[in-house]
Amino acid sequence: MEVFYTTKSAFDPDFAPDKNIKDQVAKTRVLVIGAGGLGCEILKNLVMNGFRAIDVIDMDTIELSNLNRQFLFRDVDIGKAKAITAAAFVNSRVGEVCVTPIQDKDKQFYRQFNLVICGLDSIEARRWVSGMFIDLVDDQDPTTMIPIIDGGTEGFRGQSRIILPSLSACHECSSGMHSSKKTYPICTISNTPRLPEHCIEYASVILWPKEFGEQKVDTDNIADINWILENAVNYSKKFGISGIDFSLVLGVLKNIVPAIASTNAIIAASCVNEAIKLVSGCNPFLDNYMLYVGDTGLYSHTFTLEKNPDCFVCGNAKASIEIPKSTKLEEFIEIIKDRFQLKKPSLRTDKNIYMQAPPTLELKCRPNLEKALFELFESGNSVTVTDSTLTTSILLTVDFAQVRSQTNP
Ligand SMILES: [Zn+2]
Repeated sequence: MEVFYTTKSAFDPDFAPDKNIKDQVAKTRVLVIGAGGLGCEILKNLVMNGFRAIDVIDMDTIELSNLNRQFLFRDVDIGKAKAITAAAFVNSRVGEVCVTPIQDKDKQFYRQFNLVICGLDSIEARRWVSGMFIDLVDDQDPTTMIPIIDGGTEGFRGQSRIILPSLSACHECSSGMHSSKKTYPICTISNTPRLPEHCIEYASVILWPKEFGEQKVDTDNIADINWILENAVNYSKKFGISGIDFSLVLGVLKNIVPAIASTNAIIAASCVNEAIKLVSGCNPFLDNYMLYVGDTGLYSHTFTLEKNPDCFVCGNAKASIEIPKSTKLEEFIEIIKDRFQLKKPSLRTDKNIYMQAPPTLELKCRPNLEKALFELFESGNSVTVTDSTLTTSILLTVDFAQVRSQTNP
C-alpha cells in the first residue's frame, strides 16, 4: 500500500513528506465513533491515508435504508452490526487488520487512544463523548488530553470541529448553537399554510389533540402516521397544497433531514485531513470550527469557538438558575430539560426531589411534581441534576427570583 502522499503537489510546497510522518500516522491509535454515513467515509479516508491502528465503535445494525450511502455495506449485511461489518470490509480490502470493531468499554479503556474521530448523528452521543474525554484529562499530565475531531451533517449542511478536551471549547460550551426541532408559527399553520409541512404540523399540533387529548402521536405506529397523513391531506386540499405523502409526514414528525452522501463525503474528508495534520504536525490544523453551508448557495466559514468559562462540563463555574419560587417542580424540570438538553433528569438536594428510577422511588417522589419549588428547598440551595445524557452530574444553584412586590413593600 504505497498510496500515501505519492505526490507533493496537493500540499504546501515546503512540505516534504518523509518516512517519519508515514510511521507516525500508521501507528497512531485512532478511535472512530460511528460507522454510519460519516463513519464509512472516515474509515475509508483513514486507511487510504495510511492509518493502520483504528478501533471503531457503533451500536447500530445495518438497515436497508443505509445502503445508498453507507458504502461498506451490502444487501447481505442487513441486520448485521455496523462496526463489525465495516471493519471486515476495510480489512479485506487493505489486506491487513487496520480496523478493529469494539463494544462500549469502561472509561479507562479509552486512555490508550491518541485521537478520536466522531461521525455521529445525535447530540446526546456527542455530549457523552465530549464529557468522557474531558473526564479523562489529568491537568498534571498533558498526555491524558486526547483530541476529538467531530463531524456532523444535516442535508446540505455540515460542520467539522476540533475539541482539545479541557483546553478548547467542549460540546457543552456551544450547546446554545444546536438547532432544535423546526417549528412553524401557529397562525401560519392555521390561517395561511403555504407548504405541505404546514398542513402536517396543523394535523399533528391542532387536530390530533382535539381528537386524542393528551395522548401523543407515536411516530413508530403506522396507524398514527396514517391518521396524520389523511388529515393533513384533507386540510391541504382547502388551500390547494399538494405533495404530502407518508415519508414527508414521517420526516416532519420525526424531524428527519435527508442524509446526503456527498455532504458526508465532504465533512468526513475534512475530518481526516485534520487528523493527518494533528498527528503529523505537517501543517497547522483547524482552529477550531468549520461550517459548510450548502443549502443557501454555498459558503464555508471557519472560526474559533471560545471556551465558555461558565460551562458546567469543562468550566470552573457551577450552573445557576433564577426562577420564581412558586414554579411547580414539574415546570422546573421542563425548563432545565430545555436549558441543558436533558432527557429525563433526576434531582436531589440532601434529599430526593425527583428520581426517574427505580420505579418505587419515582412513585414516592411523584407528589413533588405538583409542589412549588419553595416547598421543596430554599433559595440558593444546590440541586444535583443527573441524566442519562450526562457523564457527570450538574450542580445547579437555584435562586428564587425576586418578585417586585417583595422588593418594594
Ligand atoms: Zn465546555
